[in-house]
Amino acid sequence: MSVTRFRFPFVEMPEAAIALREEVRQFLAEERENGGFVPMADCWASAMSPEYSRKVGQRGWLGMTWDKKYGGHGRTFLERYVVTEEMLVAGAPVMAHWIADRQSGPQIIKHAQPHVRDKVIPRIVAGECFCAIGMSEPNSGSDLASVATKAEKVDGGWRVNGTKLWSTGAHGCDYMITLLRTSPPDEKARHEGLSQFIIDLKSPGVSIRGIADIGGQVHFNETQFEDVFVPDDYVLGEVGGGWKMVVGELALERSGPERFLSSFIVLQEAMRLLVNDPSEKTRQVLGEIVAKIKTLRRMSLGIAGLLEEGASPEMEAALVKDGATLFERELLEKLRAILPQHVLASSSGLLPAVLRDGILRVPSSTLRGGTNEVLKGMIARQLGMR
Ligand SMILES: Cc1cc2nc3c(=O)[nH]c(=O)nc-3n(C[C@H](O)[C@H](O)[C@H](O)COP(=O)(O)OP(=O)(O)OC[C@H]3O[C@@H](n4cnc5c(N)ncnc54)[C@H](O)[C@@H]3O)c2cc1C
Repeated sequence: MSVTRFRFPFVEMPEAAIALREEVRQFLAEERENGGFVPMADCWASAMSPEYSRKVGQRGWLGMTWDKKYGGHGRTFLERYVVTEEMLVAGAPVMAHWIADRQSGPQIIKHAQPHVRDKVIPRIVAGECFCAIGMSEPNSGSDLASVATKAEKVDGGWRVNGTKLWSTGAHGCDYMITLLRTSPPDEKARHEGLSQFIIDLKSPGVSIRGIADIGGQVHFNETQFEDVFVPDDYVLGEVGGGWKMVVGELALERSGPERFLSSFIVLQEAMRLLVNDPSEKTRQVLGEIVAKIKTLRRMSLGIAGLLEEGASPEMEAALVKDGATLFERELLEKLRAILPQHVLASSSGLLPAVLRDGILRVPSSTLRGGTNEVLKGMIARQLGMR
């Protein structure tokens, strides 16, 4: 077996990205001051505001890296990194556009029919069109090749039947990029017979049922397809080529700053309070946390650099996601241990609110986007250990 080395190149922020950071910070400060949003933990996966997303689109901060000829802004991955990083740090309500901007848009640009691309992409860039990911099913999660939701060929298109599960944000989305079985499973070629489709979630036969999480919030769904008709031109890429596409999406899905900044708002608020507490334990805990964030950020930025080169760093992304999501759990546990009792027991104020939401949401961090056990298996194989 050939062993590929992991690459995390050192990346220097270009001047344009440094200037942009100030612009984004100013926008966020104004929005917050004007009541445009209240900061939330895990904002990219639980704070949905189409109105806010439209404002982000108007600023030119969606589809930033996409080619201008398709309606994008032709900017660098590092500039996009700065925007996403600042939005996460502020706990802004970015959920509506997050998936479309991160991974569905690039897939549509690369694989959709030109007229479908031209219809959808400018709307994503404007913050007026949102997408969900339809990979997992009731009996298919880690073993994604076993998906059973079927698309059967009919006149002029495909008839879809089955159920997708945990579809984040589908209740507020226009389209789902959906992995479907287009020919029967073959145990000898498990990754074949799968295709990706762009499904309009307003189509007859689609029903979306919200699933409440442990805190009672609905942010993911069960999406059912009953004889849903999808026109031929809404197949993404080649029929049967779905697996390769899904794998290509994972570097975008797993490497970004959302994997270690979901609870940053909790840290920020805790720091405001703890800065006056000079105890040795507090200093030690905060020092460890900051050192880990810096390391993870350096690795995640390295991946943004690789994306800028045109690479598809799935393995590096798996390594970052594994380390980053474990860190997110550790961060909240450590903060709980040093925060004063009156904060832990309080039901009012920003810090108690983001801490509570962070604690309720963080167990999902090591599951969504691929579990850590599965990521470790991939990494071990890459290192030639399995
Ligand atoms: C908050 C949240 C949001 C999500 N959003 C989406 C979404 O938008 N779209 C979407 O398609 N999916 C989404 N998912 C689904 C997510 O991708 C799956 O939950 C995940 O891939 C695991 O699949 P599973 O839940 O079926 O668990 P299983 O695959 O059944 O795994 C159960 C356990 O077995 C372990 N395991 C399984 N296989 C192996 C193996 N080979 N080696 C070692 N251990 C293994 C796993 O690590 C896990 O601990 C979301 C999940 C969550 C929690």
